Amino acid sequence: MDENLTVLTDAFVGVTDGKFTHIGTTPPPESERPAKIIDGTGMVMMPGLINCHTHLAMSLLRGCGDDVPLQQWLTERIFPVEARMDARCAKASALLGIAECVRFGVTSVSDLYFHTDSIAQAVAETGIKANIACSSSVFKGGEFDERRFPACIELRALRKNWHGYDNGRILAEASVKAYSSTHELWDYVTRFAAEEGLGMQIHLSETAAHQAQSLEQTGLTPAQVLDCHHAFDGRTCAAHCVHLTEEDMTLLGKRRVTAVHCPVSNMKLASGRADITAMVKHGMNVALGTDSAASNNALDMFRVMKLAALQAKDMQKDPGVLPAPAALMMATVCGAKAQGREKECGMIKTGLDADLCLLDFTQPHLIPCHDLMSHLVYCATGQDVVLTMVRGKTLYAAGKYPTIDLSKVMEELRSYAIPTLFGEKEDPS
Ligand SMILES: [Zn+2]
Repeated sequence: MDENLTVLTDAFVGVTDGKFTHIGTTPPPESERPAKIIDGTGMVMMPGLINCHTHLAMSLLRGCGDDVPLQQWLTERIFPVEARMDARCAKASALLGIAECVRFGVTSVSDLYFHTDSIAQAVAETGIKANIACSSSVFKGGEFDERRFPACIELRALRKNWHGYDNGRILAEASVKAYSSTHELWDYVTRFAAEEGLGMQIHLSETAAHQAQSLEQTGLTPAQVLDCHHAFDGRTCAAHCVHLTEEDMTLLGKRRVTAVHCPVSNMKLASGRADITAMVKHGMNVALGTDSAASNNALDMFRVMKLAALQAKDMQKDPGVLPAPAALMMATVCGAKAQGREKECGMIKTGLDADLCLLDFTQPHLIPCHDLMSHLVYCATGQDVVLTMVRGKTLYAAGKYPTIDLSKVMEELRSYAIPTLFGEKEDPS
């Protein structure tokens, strides 16, 4: 995924101290004999995928409420379970989510949730990269006090304890809820993000109802209202962007906002189809995300790439729209840019972090291979990943998770997290 979309066959890739140090069709010189050799015969190496919209701690809510509209889904299925979520459940659930991510070739995520200290601990232990934002809302009518309000305390703690952890493997980010919180909170959070140099993660214009509600209450779209409160002054990821107006796209393009397209989640909840072709034309960066395991219900970015490409073609009634290399770019280089990591990952290039995955291309569904990039988008799934590496460290290889004690995680889910969230009788394990 370098600037020339180079594809090398029969290539050698060298990794030293966590970075790519050799890429070419000849092996490194004899003087640089590697300590360890991984034989990639029959495999394809690509940059690790970057999932720019996750709620890792919701992994245990997978499949617990399907086939209902967003508002009903949230109020009847999700919120009652989340009310029982504690720090311990969040960590166990996040570990499960991270295991799924690395299993499917993801090397970096942008996560938005509560219990961010637990999520950061899970990220720290497992070796994946993450931009972690703390979801903050104060429902209108409540008195706002930045010193006492829990989400403000959590945001400050996240910044203090985790921002820049392990040489920037974890980055803290801020977040505001566009629809249900007070403007004093937005002003505090956006000011804090600007002062501390933090990125922002926001859910934006996910449903027609959100858009209509904002217009009715303020006469402005959610993007316009948030812009008044400086939400887009710094690096911002706006998840969904399904119902943006033409003016919104012009504004967000000018502010260099990234739209994080989550087509699987949007289609599953029948929220609508985001017009990413128009967003790109308006100068917005477009990255991809799964959204949570509750609304996707898998954290498989290969399936997201495929659906993003198909949906864009169908919307424009043109099969030439969003070709495979463009979908791959959205899941790699555009994702790295969205996370402020474009100088660090997203490509296989000397000097960048060795964040990569290997896919087994000897399987029947990947033969013959006339076009590698087409296969990665239209044929492969996360199941084809056989190795995932972050900064040269193997996080997944051939069914094993060297940094995650999966049986311990499963035991914690069975004995504590699932009973806490769902009650003993409903144990779905
Ligand atoms: Zn979301």
